[in-house]
Amino acid sequence: MVAQATDDVSTTDWMRTVIKEDEITRYMEDGRDFIDEEGIEALLRSNQNPDPQRVRGIIAKSFSIERLEPEETATLLNVEDEDLWEEMFQAAGEVKRRVYDNRIVTFAPLYCSNFCVNSCLYCAFRKENTQEKRRGLTLDEVREETKALVSAGHKRLVTVYGEHPLSDASYIADTMSTIYETKVGNGEIRRINVNAAPMSMENLKLLKEVGLGTYQVFQETYHHRTYQKAHPRGIKSNYDWRLYALHRAQEAGVDDVAIGALFGLYDWKFEVMGLLYHAIDLEKHFDGIGPHTISFPRLEPAANTPIIKKAPYKVSDRDFKRLVAVIRLSVPYTGMILTAREPAEIRREVISVGCTQTDASTRIGIGAYSDKYNEQEAERQQFVLGDTRSLDEVIRELAQMGYITSFCTAGYRCGRTGKLIMHNFRCGKERPLCKLNAVLTFREYLDDYASEDTKRAGETIIQKETGEIEKENPAVVPKLKEYLHRIESGERDLYF
Ligand code: SAM
Ligand code: SF4
Repeated sequence: MVAQATDDVSTTDWMRTVIKEDEITRYMEDGRDFIDEEGIEALLRSNQNPDPQRVRGIIAKSFSIERLEPEETATLLNVEDEDLWEEMFQAAGEVKRRVYDNRIVTFAPLYCSNFCVNSCLYCAFRKENTQEKRRGLTLDEVREETKALVSAGHKRLVTVYGEHPLSDASYIADTMSTIYETKVGNGEIRRINVNAAPMSMENLKLLKEVGLGTYQVFQETYHHRTYQKAHPRGIKSNYDWRLYALHRAQEAGVDDVAIGALFGLYDWKFEVMGLLYHAIDLEKHFDGIGPHTISFPRLEPAANTPIIKKAPYKVSDRDFKRLVAVIRLSVPYTGMILTAREPAEIRREVISVGCTQTDASTRIGIGAYSDKYNEQEAERQQFVLGDTRSLDEVIRELAQMGYITSFCTAGYRCGRTGKLIMHNFRCGKERPLCKLNAVLTFREYLDDYASEDTKRAGETIIQKETGEIEKENPAVVPKLKEYLHRIESGERDLYF
């Protein structure tokens, strides 16, 4: 149970125990981290006005699902010509289709606690924001929130926590166990990803034991000086503890790790390069295993965060689409997450350049899904959302756009994670399996949760997908039909 937040001696003592220096330095080379700012600036300078043929050569490399080198990404970032950008948008969409087909995975964030010892200048949860209503969900409340999300049809959550002794690793583990135990009729949460502060390997092992899916830590900004300004105090002021959070996770046995940058704190081109170097360093240390997903949130207004209004590096809608396309082309194997921070019209536009996951029916207040708190209250949420549509509405729109929403979590439960999934993505092996599981889980959603309008749009997609499977993979069709029949008779959670 979460008690009252205190900022007393015990919190300060706890803060001193969090960072383990040897769990940073073991990954560094000659005491330096992998973000060489001068090197990045030099690459961005020396690859200006690229020759279109060179750009097309780089795109061809992305088509072969090879991760780009920094010089190549710097070249793409420097394209000026609008027509060439159009080619890059098309190519990014095509790379996504080759690896992930027309699937979009949906999830919901579940904010569990907003107690925080840190002072991130852009976040309403920062310690100095005395107007924020602080709250951590009790396990009973976690159960209520989970029931509300399961009842809407969700199968995947990302749980979110401030950094505080009241929401330490054992609290996170308890909330995860509670979520996995909660069932509503046919429904349950089958995968929990976690977005929480960097942890020690010991704590990461604890979370793995209770079923941690992907562990997400966003670096926010890769630019050291900007990082220090935006995180002036608290544990998060340690750039390298955060930078190596996902190295520690991989070493602790967490198979899937997720990187991200908060766009708007520094130059977007620099941040894309930072993300690429992060992917490269993970691959280097962990036998080719890079990030399972990349996130690219843009700074949104948040209560009592003056930094956002003054932000000199705000990313325009045009540049946002560009950066998403360049990330897709640079790290073709990775999943890419577009969130409800963005308004619906931007989501429509940007999803086509390579996104694979999106959230829906999102509420980011603590306790905001269950009956007690139906409103998005400013003083309890982290920032302001751009898109508050229901899961049903989002799925309907995706179906109308030709995307199938997948609730599949089979890969993880069949051991297709880490190195194996990376390999399967790179050589196109995962695509047919994912397509089958997308059909099965979408069928479940349509039968159990969809409105009539969504069912209509969804049936068209199911028919199209099944037709493609019949052409591309006829051997599996009898089993697919058998599974669909069993779903119709009420069985659930069947997968390939
Ligand atoms: N407290 C943990 C941490 O900071 O890593 C995890 C949770 S934090 C609430 C999740 C993410 O929200 C942060 O990593 C940051 O990128 C994002 N975020 C914070 N303030 C934001 C804002 N004003 N607009 C958009 N995203 C924001
Ligand atoms: Fe705390 Fe995370 Fe918000 Fe920073 S971003 S204030 S660490 S919750």
